[in-house]
Amino acid sequence: MNSEVEKLMFLQTQSITKEFGKLRAVNQVSLDVKQGDIHAIIGPNGAGKSTYFNLVTGYHRATEGKVLFKGKDITHLPAFHRCKLGITRSFQITSIFPKLTVYESVLMGLLAHRGVTLNFLSSAKKYFNEEVWKILEDVGLADQAHALGESISHGDKKRLELAITLGTEPEILLLDEPTCGMSPEETETTMIFIRKLVEDKRLTILFTEHDMSVVFGIAKRISVLHQGTLIADGTPEEVRNSEEVQRVYLGGVA
Ligand code: ADP
Ligand code: MG
Repeated sequence: MNSEVEKLMFLQTQSITKEFGKLRAVNQVSLDVKQGDIHAIIGPNGAGKSTYFNLVTGYHRATEGKVLFKGKDITHLPAFHRCKLGITRSFQITSIFPKLTVYESVLMGLLAHRGVTLNFLSSAKKYFNEEVWKILEDVGLADQAHALGESISHGDKKRLELAITLGTEPEILLLDEPTCGMSPEETETTMIFIRKLVEDKRLTILFTEHDMSVVFGIAKRISVLHQGTLIADGTPEEVRNSEEVQRVYLGGVA
């Protein structure tokens, strides 16, 4: 496959649908995410953004439709298998190890992904030391390496979560409201890190975010969900100018 075709066939959903009882949380969403893009999914609360992420990562089983990754049908693969393929998510609610240090948390993430058992912990520590420091530097947490997870600021916790996620060697990172609860300064530094990760590691990012200045500041492509249905998909300019998006969602904020 030539590289342009590969980029186009990176992550696709085809008419993906999720029903919870009578509620269609995600309704026939067909979407392409291109390799190397920073792609935002936006929409009001309850639009189906988190559910869509769960369908892509395998935390929910689709009622209908397909998920394809690099042309391969992964609709029925469990989450851990998709993670091994390089599809990784961070959660809307921060999930870190409160009683481990920042350094240990990242190490644990690496070990879990590589399947290292605790019997080999001491030799594994030496082996992975450099990699852990590299990740901590990538996300700007090296100076907090020895602080306990529970003691760091909310913004640093979200960054730690990102660091743990990077240990799984993702090709595409799904970030559900990565800057939720952060101060404007923390938001800005986090977004700079995310942009750097895309450039340095050639990652692809699919993210959701409430803050429209963050979305329009960083996304190359934006898809808009409304009541589970995709109502717009395009460049920030195209989405900003969409009448339907203005009517049901943006209404003057972007
Ligand atoms: P968003 O992330 O855009 O705010 P969600 O994907 O969380 O939206 O939710 C979409 C809709 O699906 C909402 O109406 C929500 O209440 C419902 N929903 C989400 N998860 C579940 C679940 N596990 N069981 C039942 N309903 C759910
Ligand atoms: Mg959500």
